[in-house]
Amino acid sequence: MDHPLFADDMKLTPYWWDEAPRPEIANSPLPDTVDVAIIGAGYTGLTAAINLARAGRSVVVLDAEDAGWGCSARNGGQIGSGVKPDVDDLERKYGREAGHAVVHEGFNSLEHTIDFIKAEGIDCDLRQNGRFIGAHRESKYDTMAENFEALNKVRPFDWHMIPHSETKTELGTEAYFGGAVLPHHAALQPAKYVNGLVERALKAGATIETHTPVLGLDAKDGGSTVVTTRGKITARDVIVATNGYTQRLTPGLRRRVIPIGSYMIATDPIDPEIMQRIMPQQRALSDTRKVVYYYRSSPDHTRVVFGGRVALQETDPKISGPRLHDIMSGLFPELKETKISHSWMGFVAYTFDHLPHLGQRDGVWFSMGYCGSGVAWATYLGHKLAHKVLGNDEGKTAFDDMSFPTRPLYTGDPWFLGAAVAYYQAMDKWGR
Ligand SMILES: Cc1cc2nc3c(=O)[nH]c(=O)nc-3n(C[C@H](O)[C@H](O)[C@H](O)COP(=O)(O)OP(=O)(O)OC[C@H]3O[C@@H](n4cnc5c(N)ncnc54)[C@H](O)[C@@H]3O)c2cc1C
Repeated sequence: MDHPLFADDMKLTPYWWDEAPRPEIANSPLPDTVDVAIIGAGYTGLTAAINLARAGRSVVVLDAEDAGWGCSARNGGQIGSGVKPDVDDLERKYGREAGHAVVHEGFNSLEHTIDFIKAEGIDCDLRQNGRFIGAHRESKYDTMAENFEALNKVRPFDWHMIPHSETKTELGTEAYFGGAVLPHHAALQPAKYVNGLVERALKAGATIETHTPVLGLDAKDGGSTVVTTRGKITARDVIVATNGYTQRLTPGLRRRVIPIGSYMIATDPIDPEIMQRIMPQQRALSDTRKVVYYYRSSPDHTRVVFGGRVALQETDPKISGPRLHDIMSGLFPELKETKISHSWMGFVAYTFDHLPHLGQRDGVWFSMGYCGSGVAWATYLGHKLAHKVLGNDEGKTAFDDMSFPTRPLYTGDPWFLGAAVAYYQAMDKWGR
């Protein structure tokens, strides 16, 4: 490929797939009937499948591509406990009790995910080294401290601020005005995590049919018809787990999620001394921008894996790669000459209220809208959704009584995205 920053063998597939390729799952003849058909073989669909199959339900998981082909095997692998709206916003909108319940769900999602991975013994390079969030402007340092203090009153947790003078203990850059450390946050290798879920879903008795797009859905109480390229299946319950890849198949859901491309690069291996200097704590890293940059070292601490949004409209990873590199080497000038080994992208699903949603709509079950933080949300809510289908109290969440908002004239094509990204970038530069 023809850019001076590209390694000779640069790949346009996620770095994670080198070590954990998409699993080859032999298709079998489609079942005529199942208890539950799940559309989408990412974290949501697979965790739901594991729970349902273990409860004795017959389950088929259908994906148009390979298992984990969507966001689940392409993400940054960062596991957080936060929800996007701050405590004030949640209290204003939902009242004190319901707003606080949402805050608790954020923490629950992280704890559930870590406990689940450990209990299952999933080999996915889980490391709970915490997160550092850099204040990209001086005023953001105080705002961040105020927000964490408010959060701490709702759900006490361990956190501390790092002033500008001490930032080097966290990160080898002069770019931030200090930041916050959240020791309970974690990171994993996302593609290894998907593969671990696939193994467990199959072992529990679920069937996974890849390269099987679902083309039609006729949802009826007591028996829905799922039409795929390979035939029809009758299912007592249908789960839609398509998140940022939600298409016309489910128009009611499509008009409630906003697909937004998120872009990542991985670098060639870096001198260990430099790695130690720039990321001494091996934490998950992000900043206070609305159009956020998120990054970390690879599980073996030899490379930087760096992500964010670098164009108003969706673009090609050959174009986003050098732009992300530019931002990265702005933070860490020592990486200016380091080549890009991988450049890729995927679609996250935002929602109009910046919260995830799950439940039932138009005769199908769904969980989606993780707003770019789906490693924990999808794991946790996939589990919750399975319990909803089973009719168990375990399926209850703080989101149950919330409506899933859309906007007039929005049908799923985010024509406003360029303007919204430009607005948020301007706010990041000049806003409060
Ligand atoms: C570059 C990037 C970085 C990210 N970084 C992080 C991070 O660091 N931390 C974090 O928490 N989150 C991150 N995310 C978000 C996170 O990866 C997602 O929220 C999460 O993986 C969503 O999982 P899912 O199972 O709901 O959906 P997905 O994994 O996206 O799976 C949806 C699946 O549905 C399938 N599908 C769609 N339509 C059909 C159909 N009609 N028939 C059959 N199959 C269909 C697709 O093929 C796809 O495989 C990131 C996302 C991206 C793209």
